[in-house]
Amino acid sequence: MTKNQDFCLKCGGSRIERFEKEKRLMFHCFDCGQISSRVLTFDDSRLVKTKKGYKHFSIGAIIQKRNRILIIFPHNFPFEYKFPSGHIKKGETPRKALYREVKEETGLNVVSAKLLFHEILDWDSCSRGVDIHEWYLFKVKVKGRIDKFNKEVIRFKWFLPKKIKNLKINKVYQYWLQKSGLIKGK
Ligand SMILES: [Zn+2]
Ligand SMILES: [Zn+2]
Repeated sequence: MTKNQDFCLKCGGSRIERFEKEKRLMFHCFDCGQISSRVLTFDDSRLVKTKKGYKHFSIGAIIQKRNRILIIFPHNFPFEYKFPSGHIKKGETPRKALYREVKEETGLNVVSAKLLFHEILDWDSCSRGVDIHEWYLFKVKVKGRIDKFNKEVIRFKWFLPKKIKNLKINKVYQYWLQKSGLIKGK
């Protein structure tokens, strides 16, 4: 495993300490004193430089059970409800990343997956300091049990689509659920 390298988004300093505050992942820069929920991280995620800035590659998994959708609350930025998702690693196919991320975030095994959308969103900011993500959104069938002791996830819930509008769901995930026809626009 490669070691993560974190850089402060304010001063570019690299003396960063990670810590948890109320189960939320935060970063402290020793160079400028900034405390933030985001830093620029160089890790094993696939990362490319574009004219508009760095771009990550992401997968998302819409997992349904009897009309309900699996929604989680993550321990890292932006601290809003979402469905399982994650970065594609270097050398990994979108499908391989999907199987790995679903397992890591939920403990569930992917049985089958259908690609719904492949699209670049340049308004999607992640905890690792990147604002552009090339998404592969899948509709996924799973088996197994949810791992409720996962440290990356604070809460798991199965929601009826019409109840999702009462949640503070992240705008990116709201966009995907609307585009998939599962929830209506506002
Ligand atoms: Zn700093
Ligand atoms: Zn990212």
